[in-house]
Amino acid sequence: MSNAKLEVQNLTLKYGDALAVDNVSFSIAHGECLTILGANGAGKSSIGKSLAGLLPPASGNIILDGDDVTNLEPYLISQRKLSYLPEGRAIFPTLTVEENLMLGARKLSADPKAAVQSAYDLFSRLGDRRKQQARTLSGGEQQMLAVSKALISDPEVIVVDELSLGLAPLIIDDIYTALGKAREANNVTIVLIEQYIDRALSFADRALLMVHGHEVWSGPADSNADGIVRGFLSGETAA
Ligand code: ATP
Repeated sequence: MSNAKLEVQNLTLKYGDALAVDNVSFSIAHGECLTILGANGAGKSSIGKSLAGLLPPASGNIILDGDDVTNLEPYLISQRKLSYLPEGRAIFPTLTVEENLMLGARKLSADPKAAVQSAYDLFSRLGDRRKQQARTLSGGEQQMLAVSKALISDPEVIVVDELSLGLAPLIIDDIYTALGKAREANNVTIVLIEQYIDRALSFADRALLMVHGHEVWSGPADSNADGIVRGFLSGETAA
């Protein structure tokens, strides 16, 4: 029996008749980080959505903690401590920072006030702006809030889609640092969907590269991975 935290077996995803992901398999150990890399349209976000229960597979299985969760509703997946941070900023723009955090904390955390405080400990800028409406925050601060909302439920698995999209490098550093702290503190298992190859490879343990819905390479996120991934992606651009 496998001791994987999360296992994806022969996953095929479609939108109507259009194939988005073709027969992809991977397995992630408890506390491990797998980054899924690839160009626009490669199928990365579709995998993220299916892990969160938002895109039921055409075929294949998703196994979480040894249980088949393939066709579970998103709320049941989140009850199993899988937290999904979609592309874009998953926040309520007209609520304050504190209200956004409280919504997540009340639902899932045993001690909501302490959970909100831990978000401010992670990102002091959120604490400074706790009474501001989320829509008035900078893009980086909104992403900090989105990450905090995903972490506040004390997840065991977090699926993060395009964390660094549209953000300045210094902000990206802050956000990755926070994610790293959460990972160290709680041994969170992470699926990191990224286009920013350098950052993703330095954070992750292993990488999986998607091209046009197919898994073309997977391996350790070590010093060789960068060249391999860029080789595939430049070939794709040239094709
Ligand atoms: P991006 O970084 O641009 O989000 P991606 O690698 O995450 O790219 P997906 O968003 O998973 O790729 O898209 C995979 C394929 O599925 C693409 O061909 C895309 O056009 C298609 N697709 C994605 N979402 C939908 C949808 N809601 N309806 C129809 N086709 C879709």
